[in-house]
Amino acid sequence: MAVNILWMQSGGCGGDTMSFLCADDPGIDELFAAIDGRLLWHPSLSPLSPDEARAMLASVLAEETPLDVLVVEGAIVFGPNGTGAFDMKGGRPKKDWLADLARVARYVVAAGTCAAFGGFGRGDEIDARGLQFTGAAPGGLLPAGFRSRGGLPVLNLSGCPVHPAALSSALTSLAYGAPIELDNFQRPADWYGTLVHQGCTRNEYHEFRVEEREFGQNGCLFFYMGCHGPVTGASCNKTLWNERSSKTRAGVPCFGCTEPYFPKRAPLFETKNIEGVPVQLPRGVDRAHYLAYKGMAAAAAPQRLLERKGKV
Ligand code: SF4
Repeated sequence: MAVNILWMQSGGCGGDTMSFLCADDPGIDELFAAIDGRLLWHPSLSPLSPDEARAMLASVLAEETPLDVLVVEGAIVFGPNGTGAFDMKGGRPKKDWLADLARVARYVVAAGTCAAFGGFGRGDEIDARGLQFTGAAPGGLLPAGFRSRGGLPVLNLSGCPVHPAALSSALTSLAYGAPIELDNFQRPADWYGTLVHQGCTRNEYHEFRVEEREFGQNGCLFFYMGCHGPVTGASCNKTLWNERSSKTRAGVPCFGCTEPYFPKRAPLFETKNIEGVPVQLPRGVDRAHYLAYKGMAAAAAPQRLLERKGKV
């Protein structure tokens, strides 16, 4: 039976749509063929006229057209003053449409960090929230206890943007009823259970504390250049972007874009550190041991790494 998918955009930049369009293994057409997917509507990809789109939404809300997967891209806007009037659709706040649609959907998917956790407009006059979290706090548009008709909470596929393979994988699992293990932030553990640090080609530099201090070198970006790889759950260095690269492979620090705190109100290309030791250490690491270990590791750094660091 066809899997009906409805894609709604709220407060966001459209980057998750751009990312999904770049899906290549499988591509969108292959994915939809494999899961017998039927796109009820997408604001950029659907040929429906405004009247036809309104009729489609009415039919979904009247439960005449089944809604298998509601995908939401962008933050849920509550501003100003809780009204949601900054983001309207057809004379109604978008947040009210989304709450009604979530109630009739079999599954609800947050595509990207804004939909999952609120993202950029969190904590300002836009009052952006995620679908079921606001930052790391449970509860967003929907309460913490929300379960869709299929029995799952909102699936948070965070990322700025979401990795297209994570989205394809989630849609496939939902279509086939395969179990999905979720972490504390309702993200599929298969995609968010490893750190960006794992698989980074700069790992050996990290190990011996060979630091990058200027872009264009080959050192580790953790100590001075703002890399969040050791504290960020995402598969960017495991399932590469466009099957070939990642931020750290291209010489740019990981910004931690899959985490609920993203974006931090702090410079992106700097590591807050005290005497050269980052304030935020790799996940689960004890500070006293880290200080002792890194000091010894730096002293033991092999010459070949120190020489290669400077080479582009
Ligand atoms: S650049 Fe970032 S992800 Fe890569 S090894 Fe250093 S800290 Fe880890």
